[in-house]
Amino acid sequence: MPELPEVETVRRGLAPAMEGTRIIRLDLRRGDLRFPFPADFAEKVTGRRIVALSRRAKYLLIDLDDGMTMICHLGMSGSFRIEQGADSAVPGVFHVPRSKDEKHDHVFFHLEGPSGPLRVIYNDPRRFGFMDLMARNALDTYPAFRDLGPEPVGNRMSAEYLAKRFGGKKQPLKSSLLDQKNIAGLGNIYVCEALWRARLSPFAASDSMVTKTGRPKKSLDLLVDSIRAVIDEAILAGGSSLRDHIQTDGTLGYFQHSFRVYDRESEPCLRLDCGGTVRRMVQAGRSTFYCDTCQR
Ligand SMILES: [Zn+2]
Repeated sequence: MPELPEVETVRRGLAPAMEGTRIIRLDLRRGDLRFPFPADFAEKVTGRRIVALSRRAKYLLIDLDDGMTMICHLGMSGSFRIEQGADSAVPGVFHVPRSKDEKHDHVFFHLEGPSGPLRVIYNDPRRFGFMDLMARNALDTYPAFRDLGPEPVGNRMSAEYLAKRFGGKKQPLKSSLLDQKNIAGLGNIYVCEALWRARLSPFAASDSMVTKTGRPKKSLDLLVDSIRAVIDEAILAGGSSLRDHIQTDGTLGYFQHSFRVYDRESEPCLRLDCGGTVRRMVQAGRSTFYCDTCQR
């Protein structure tokens, strides 16, 4: 499953190609992905101009000039490919390499832009992705968005906000951070990384971050800063933090060192002077990586 930084890099890669173009034709090669396409999907978007590409949690949003928004989810294996003339590019960097097999090309956007025609192709071998169409001013009522918390790097995210959510909650800090009602789009990798950076135990009770009067403790301020930092850095690094990512010229990518704790079981803690060892525990069905020396 792509994490939020990966979806954001896909958005940043697609936006310059797609924004301002007109949809000449939408070619659906099948009737469904994970779900059926909306009724008359292709007809409804044909002729519309793409105003902007935005994102909510792990959903890519394509805003059209008639007030409608195409909602796209990449599922497990979805990717977009931009083809213009002889050039082809797949924006975003993924933990698992993306398919280029044309038999998994399911949706073709035929676009007309200022520099001529182009195609944006959605490829998805496992077909867990989906697309939907909804009025932009009603997006908050979309089932997947209705109960979503704020974006981890958005303006609404703050220690005060999390203090309200965590107050009186005994569940482990890690579970609260993965709860999409508290924070939208924060996944397992970046929760582990943020907790390590903030030196917080994944098993601490959530309300231990909150004072008796409901104010955020210093540790919660630090956690919010850490969440922002790990997400921002991952986006800057190109979306993901692959280990052994091999670049097109065959050299190892600069992502290989970006995980400080995730997927490093039994390796030494990377915090200077800690001397601890990274542990792995299964928590609510997900692997938690942490250092039991400095994360207390
Ligand atoms: Zn440590």
